[in-house]
Amino acid sequence: MFDLVVIGSGPGGYVAAIKGAQLGGKVAVVEGNKLGGCCLNVGCIPTKALVHAATTYLSAKEAHKFGVEIGEVKLNLAGVMAHKSNTVKRLVDGLEMLLKGNGVTVYRGWANVPAPGKVEVTYDDGSKEVLETKNIVLATGSTQQLPPVPKESLAHAISSDDALELDKVPERMLIIGGGVIAAEFACIWNAFGSKVDMVKRSPLILPPVDEEISHKRPFGHLRERDARRKRRESPRSRDEGRRTEGVPRRCDPHSHGESTVLRRYRPGGPRCRA
Ligand SMILES: Cc1cc2nc3c(=O)[nH]c(=O)nc-3n(C[C@H](O)[C@H](O)[C@H](O)COP(=O)(O)OP(=O)(O)OC[C@H]3O[C@@H](n4cnc5c(N)ncnc54)[C@H](O)[C@@H]3O)c2cc1C
Repeated sequence: MFDLVVIGSGPGGYVAAIKGAQLGGKVAVVEGNKLGGCCLNVGCIPTKALVHAATTYLSAKEAHKFGVEIGEVKLNLAGVMAHKSNTVKRLVDGLEMLLKGNGVTVYRGWANVPAPGKVEVTYDDGSKEVLETKNIVLATGSTQQLPPVPKESLAHAISSDDALELDKVPERMLIIGGGVIAAEFACIWNAFGSKVDMVKRSPLILPPVDEEISHKRPFGHLRERDARRKRRESPRSRDEGRRTEGVPRRCDPHSHGESTVLRRYRPGGPRCRA
């Protein structure tokens, strides 16, 4: 009988498990995918490794401005990706040690809660095991959500997971969204040489941050690096009173030589065409 079974080993899950064990409990973690969850494998850590590589690359290219002569600066994308993968592996291995060191038992399978106090683990080979526990923490995180557009429109679209695994620098990239993840990928791939466009709902980049920061910091950086932005017009400017909360309805088709037009989003129907 466990004191605590934690389902999910992302930052939410592993911290709860380690704390539970440090408080003297008999603790297990059940993980159906990779240990460390989104953050360690396809989130914070790999993006930060790429951000660091991108910043280093840009600094090296601009070093002459500061009187530092480096010679020809070349991007080795395979090397960048190897650095990213090694960083992820080091941290995932470290987490495994940390869980072990704190006496947390790890079960590698998908968890289900068939009854209070029971966690059923299904392994890859289809076999099952039921763990008895006094407490359960659900730390199952989140999954990617596709925009509400016809599937055909997404044929050549990639997710943030895929954007961490590219083996060549795309000539152009259109990023749908303007939050932190979008801005981070825009900066990374633009630094590596892609022409980046962003399509977003809010007139601000990174809407939750201060307007001043939104206008000055990330945008300045993007502009400097030749990223371009496309802003959706004010939600009420044309369809006064018909705005559906949280649903983007129209994107401003500023064209920079070529145009990308997103048609109006219609609730309930096919939403958007690129
Ligand atoms: C590209 C990107 C960059 C990001 N950068 C940052 C950043 O810089 N800073 C920041 O703070 N956040 C960042 N985030 C967000 C951060 O990754 C998440 O907030 C964080 O991972 C959430 O942790 P979590 O433990 O709740 O869930 P997750 O990390 O999603 O972990 C949940 C785990 O539960 C497992 N699981 C789910 N269901 C079951 C089941 N039934 N049985 C067994 N296991 C199950 C999943 O496989 C997964 O491993 C980023 C996210 C992305 C996508």
